Amino acid sequence: MLFEGMEKYDYEQVVFCHDKASGLKAIIAIHDTTLGPALGGCRMWPYETEEEALQDVLRLARGMTYKNAAAGLHLGGGKTVIIGDPKKDKSDAMFRALGRYVERLNGSYIIAEDVGITVADMDLVHEETKHVTGISERFGSSGNPSPMTAFGVYSAMRRTALEVFGTDSLADKTITVQGVGNVAFALCRLLHEDGANLIVTDINTEAVNRAVTQFGAKAVAPADIYDVEADIFAPCALGGILNDETISKLKVAAVCGSANNQLLDATKHGDMLANAGILYAPDYIVNAGGVINIADELNTYNEARAQKKIGEIFDQIGKVFDIAKMEQVTPAEAANRMVENRMEAAKTSKIS
Ligand code: NAD
Repeated sequence: MLFEGMEKYDYEQVVFCHDKASGLKAIIAIHDTTLGPALGGCRMWPYETEEEALQDVLRLARGMTYKNAAAGLHLGGGKTVIIGDPKKDKSDAMFRALGRYVERLNGSYIIAEDVGITVADMDLVHEETKHVTGISERFGSSGNPSPMTAFGVYSAMRRTALEVFGTDSLADKTITVQGVGNVAFALCRLLHEDGANLIVTDINTEAVNRAVTQFGAKAVAPADIYDVEADIFAPCALGGILNDETISKLKVAAVCGSANNQLLDATKHGDMLANAGILYAPDYIVNAGGVINIADELNTYNEARAQKKIGEIFDQIGKVFDIAKMEQVTPAEAANRMVENRMEAAKTSKIS
C-alpha cells in the first residue's frame, strides 16, 4: 500500500522516526529533489490515526514541491509531521531527537516550522543539525514570514487586477478579506496605503476592530463575506472555502488570497470559478512569499534580496494567466503545468 502511494505521485523517500526516550513519533516525507534539497515545514498535530498522519505528510510534501518550483527556487518539496498534541506533548528532548533524524538525511531535507511548531522548537532542532530554517534571528534567521507573505499576495493581486481591470493599481478597488490575522493584517495595510476600500471579516472581533480602526475597513459577519459585491476576494483564513456553496454566492471579478488549498476540489471548483467568470489566482503561487523569504536564509539572509524575489510573484502569476489563456485551461491547472514543465526540463538536463 505504502509503495503504491509513493509510486503514484513519485515520492522519493519516507522516513518513520521513533525515539523511545523522548516519545517522538514523526514522519518525514521527501517528495522530490529534482530542483534541489527538499524544503518544507514540520507540523505537530494530534492525528487520530497513523494513516491520517501519513496521508497528511505525503499531501503536504507534494504541495511543497509545487510551491517551491513555482516560486523559482532551487529546492524540492518535503514535509514532517509529529504525531502529538503541541499543547502538552512537546519536550526539548523530542526536538533534539528530530534534529538528529534530519541530520541523518544529510541535507537532502531542510526542516522549518509549520502549524503547532514555534521558533524555539526549531532552535532545539538546530542544536543537532544545520539543515533547518525559521530559527531565531540571533542565528541569522529571517524572523516572522507573515509580512513577506503579505507582500507576495499584494504583488499577485496587482497582477490579477491588471488581468481583469487593465490596470495594476488597486486604488479605489473594493477588496473583501476573509480573516485578518498575521498575513491579512499586513496585506490590509498595503492595500489601504494604495487607496483600496476594504471589507473584512474574522471570527476574532479584536482582529476585525484593528482593521476597522487602522485602515477604515468595513466589517461584515463571517458568513456574509461571500455575498459582498466587490472587485477582488482575498481568502486569508482557511482552506476549502471555494466550494459548491460559496462560489455560487460570489460577486467578485477575481480571487487572490493567502490561504492554503482554497479550492475544495481543485478541478471541479477551478472550473466552477472559470464558468462564473471569476479569475482565480492559484494560492500556492500567491502565498509563496513566506517560503521564498525562508529560502533566502540558506545564502545568509538578505531582506532586500528576499523582497525583490517575492515581488517577482507579480510575473509568476502573469505567466500562469498566459498559460491558462494559451492552453485553454483554468489558472489552477496552468500553475500545475508550469511547475511540471520546469521539473521535466530539470530532469532532462540532469539525464542528458
Ligand atoms: P493567522 O492564524 O494569523 O490568521 C488567520 C485568521 O483567520 C485569524 O485571525 C482567525 O481568527 C481567522 N479565521 C479563522 N476562521 C475563520 C472564519 N471561519 N472566518 C473568518 N476568519 C476566520 O494565520 P496567518 O499566518 O495569517 O495565515 C493565514 C492563511 O495564510 C492560512 O491559511 C495560512 O496557512 C496561509 N499562509 C500563511 C503564511 C504565513 O507566512 N503566515 C504563508 C503561506 C500561507
